[in-house]
Amino acid sequence: MLLKLSGEALMGPGQYGIDPDTVASMAAEVKAAKDTGLDICQVIGGGNIFRGLSKAAAGMERAQADYMGMLATIMNALAMQSALEKIGVSTRVQSAIPMAAIAEPYIRRRALRHLEKGRVVIFAAGVGAPFFTTDSGAALRAAEMGCDALLKGTSVDGVYTADPKKDPTATRYETLTYQEVLARDLRVMDASAIAMMRDTGIPIVVFSIREDDSLRRALTGEGTCTIIQDRA
Ligand code: UDP
Repeated sequence: MLLKLSGEALMGPGQYGIDPDTVASMAAEVKAAKDTGLDICQVIGGGNIFRGLSKAAAGMERAQADYMGMLATIMNALAMQSALEKIGVSTRVQSAIPMAAIAEPYIRRRALRHLEKGRVVIFAAGVGAPFFTTDSGAALRAAEMGCDALLKGTSVDGVYTADPKKDPTATRYETLTYQEVLARDLRVMDASAIAMMRDTGIPIVVFSIREDDSLRRALTGEGTCTIIQDRA
């Protein structure tokens, strides 16, 4: 399976950057899931450091700012790699933007081989092109790796009718089809990522990464989440 975490998931209680305790607890969740026998790859966003559309990028050419965002995802990938290796999980980082001194370049067959050998592969730099996001990167890699599911860890425990942080009447969907997500403009992931999952038939599980043991619970169906897939 592929686990997509937004960069903000690494901020913990902070407003910016990387919180080491939070990264350590995410790594522990990944290890616990891995210990159940799953092959795991990961994509981490960069929003905790830089986004192409953020205020910090005002006045900058969009493509240039997006490249800065991609560099942020590489930093997050390295932080996650360290946290995983510290607890004995073997990992590789593959970057869509070649950066030979610190990460492997993205090579699909090599990534598959790492997974076969039991390594967690962290894909950095999204799809390696501006005007995309790491959601699209996650969808693309999930399809390329032949994943059975894309797990999207967020700060809320699923997809709601409205933003539950702003609207107390918002209710959570148990299941949705890809088409419903697109037609209702539910902003859980980019439309391009949802469309790719629809075309490849890979289910998306949206769950909260903020609670302990949440990844394992999402995987075993014990936790609360929203599952996006076509109905039989
Ligand atoms: N980005 C990009 N192309 C990609 C992936 C990321 O241009 O394929 C840039 C874009 O500027 C984006 C930033 O990197 O805003 C950080 O990624 P994202 O916003 O997806 O991070 P998240 O919201 O998941 O933390």
